[in-house]
Amino acid sequence: MAIQIDPWSDSIPQDYAKLMEDFGIKSFEKIAEKTPDPSHLMRRKIIFGHRDFERILKAIKKENDYVVMTGLMPSGRMHLGHKLVVDELIWYQDHDAKIYLCVADLESHITREISLQEAREAAINEYLTNFQALGLNLEECNLYFQSQSDAVQKLAHTLGNKVNFSELKAIYGFGGDSNVSHIFYPMIDVADILHPQLEEFEGPTPSIVPVGIDQDPHLRLARDVARRSENDYGFILPSSTYHRLMPGLTGGKMSSSKPKSAIFLTDSIEEVEKKVADAITGGGHTVEEQKKEGGNPDECIIYSLYVYHLMPDDEELLELRKACESGKLICGDCKKKAIKFLNKFLKNHKKNRKSVKKKIGKLIEDHS
Ligand code: SF4
Repeated sequence: MAIQIDPWSDSIPQDYAKLMEDFGIKSFEKIAEKTPDPSHLMRRKIIFGHRDFERILKAIKKENDYVVMTGLMPSGRMHLGHKLVVDELIWYQDHDAKIYLCVADLESHITREISLQEAREAAINEYLTNFQALGLNLEECNLYFQSQSDAVQKLAHTLGNKVNFSELKAIYGFGGDSNVSHIFYPMIDVADILHPQLEEFEGPTPSIVPVGIDQDPHLRLARDVARRSENDYGFILPSSTYHRLMPGLTGGKMSSSKPKSAIFLTDSIEEVEKKVADAITGGGHTVEEQKKEGGNPDECIIYSLYVYHLMPDDEELLELRKACESGKLICGDCKKKAIKFLNKFLKNHKKNRKSVKKKIGKLIEDHS
């Protein structure tokens, strides 16, 4: 039986290969080699799978129009796990994509019981400010709030005709006690993904949704619905890529609801030092043992920080890996180095946040 993936869960998949096999996701490895200027996330197999990325690659190479559709769910503080998608968006922006960015305030409201006003404030002060401060040019994005998009709401209700409850139950595991708003929510998500292809926006256009593997249920549903509505709308099946989920410092998935598991983009130096000091590593029980046996970077959360965020240079990363495995580098020193890198990044990010704040206010006014 196929593994169930839950887009609203905090767990992290143990077996990505099995997920790919069960859900027909292709490996990204080969296509990364054909991609011009692949990002570190592509080179390091953090983006490990795709559906129909070929279509997007063709658009990039031929300099044709294509759309990147993405969303942010304003709930809690933004952490390094959330940063992965922003890094991907920046790459696409550098490769001439039209980016549609949805503030999924309805999703926060329905699945996390956050009021629409609170979701709006979190989106502006936390997420959008961080997105811009990290280097995404929001002025060049088609930004909208889910609760305010008539086109998305209308499309969700229209496409709802193509899906029945048994199907939603099979994909999302809804049961008798699931609330009706939550049961309907996947149709809003499907409409978010497909609406850039409506005639009033771009018309049928290659589109891509870069997501963590936990969001795949929405993609499967969106592609099925696109197929069933082909005669009505002429949708091109949305493509997708899948990235690994950022592991948390204490194990499991990095999550806003477990503050010790996450490095938040607004953490203080003291908080970073404490969290890194307590993080799980792949080192030996004693310094002597580690010097003799070496460490295991593949079981180390600190190493993941370097791979995902702190060390964009592949050569430098390889050197650190070798030093760990040979026992030349011990965890105490490695953690100190990670703290130094993190604090440098966060200090710079804090400065960037300050300088983009005004711009975000103006941008939101323009979109209200
Ligand atoms: S030396 Fe660094 S990479 Fe190696 S196990 Fe220790 S903390 Fe992890």
